[in-house]
Amino acid sequence: MTRCYNFCAGPASLPESVLETARDEMLDWHGKGLSLMEMSHRSPEVVGVAERAEQTLRDLLGMSDDYAVLFLQGGASTQFSAVPLNLLGDKGRADYVNTGQWSKKAIAEAKRYCDVNVAASSEDTNFSTIPPQDSWQLGADAAYLHYTPNETIGGVEYFWTPRVQVPLVADMSSTILSRPLQVDDFGVIYAGAQKNIGPAGLTLVIVRRDLLGRADAKCPAMLNWQTAADNDSMYNTPPTYALYLSGLVFDWLQRGGGLEAMGATNRRKAQKLYGAIDDSAFYANPVELASRSLMNVPFTLADAALDKLFLQESEAAGLLNLKGHRSVGGMRASIYNAVSEAAVDALIAFMQDFEQRNG
Ligand SMILES: *Cc1c(COP(=O)(O)O)cnc(C)c1O
Repeated sequence: MTRCYNFCAGPASLPESVLETARDEMLDWHGKGLSLMEMSHRSPEVVGVAERAEQTLRDLLGMSDDYAVLFLQGGASTQFSAVPLNLLGDKGRADYVNTGQWSKKAIAEAKRYCDVNVAASSEDTNFSTIPPQDSWQLGADAAYLHYTPNETIGGVEYFWTPRVQVPLVADMSSTILSRPLQVDDFGVIYAGAQKNIGPAGLTLVIVRRDLLGRADAKCPAMLNWQTAADNDSMYNTPPTYALYLSGLVFDWLQRGGGLEAMGATNRRKAQKLYGAIDDSAFYANPVELASRSLMNVPFTLADAALDKLFLQESEAAGLLNLKGHRSVGGMRASIYNAVSEAAVDALIAFMQDFEQRNG
């Protein structure tokens, strides 16, 4: 069996040891004579798996009990609606920062429910920058401020945390667990699992408990965080298998030394790759230096006519899913937690060889 290096933006690479454990436990979970997938979500086994996953996540993030952890479905995209439905209360306005395609989608959805004040936008730089906070125009009487700490498509990441008076809401789909995080700075953090947490189908929401109980009367029960919290994320059938796999990923992170260690590895991986891009006249990355994502590295070739050949040859070399997002073009290497340093080294070696032959 040969496993390729997978640079997919999502669903993304999973740690090999996690897949091996899942394989070994597939037919008979811990001697119970059936797969975890086949067990009731009310069984002590599945409840135990969910509790353990939550506890390991809390330990990894150093999260206090002031926060509820919710394991939901519907992806980060469903939270684009759940955020205003749960947080507006009696206010009619929210602040949003627009730094790329995911911010835009969150804004478009919020507009169904409230007056959206776009406090800042980097659209004028084609989303290659992050507007400094002193340029933000915060709205009066906003219920919360929403931003996207890592724009997965543009490859733009915040290395600072906005300071605002209202609850801070962050779509961390493509950055959570990539480095240490101060949960206390946030009102709500949410993330689709399929980048850095586990397989698709699970959505993580971390919400400060004092923000629960404000949901609009028309908020569907399935989107109501209070309902989820009251029912330990088992108001209906949760995605049990995705939860189990995510728990294995949390264990893997903890065995590897937690988020400090992961962050150091991720910085090294990204520095190498950006270094290789910057050292060459053939490859380029458009993002301002201070905001280059550790997780998603878009890059272009000097001649776009070579894109197709680059993709064909990289795939043949076992380097998969390097095609850039259709809205940006070029290439994108997503180098999430489970993408090893060896994978990044192999990519850089391929890029240098390709440049030699075609540059
Ligand atoms: C992938 C992604 C989403 C969409 O996630 P779904 O789970 O597919 O809804 C939203 N925001 C960001 C930042 C993402 O990377």
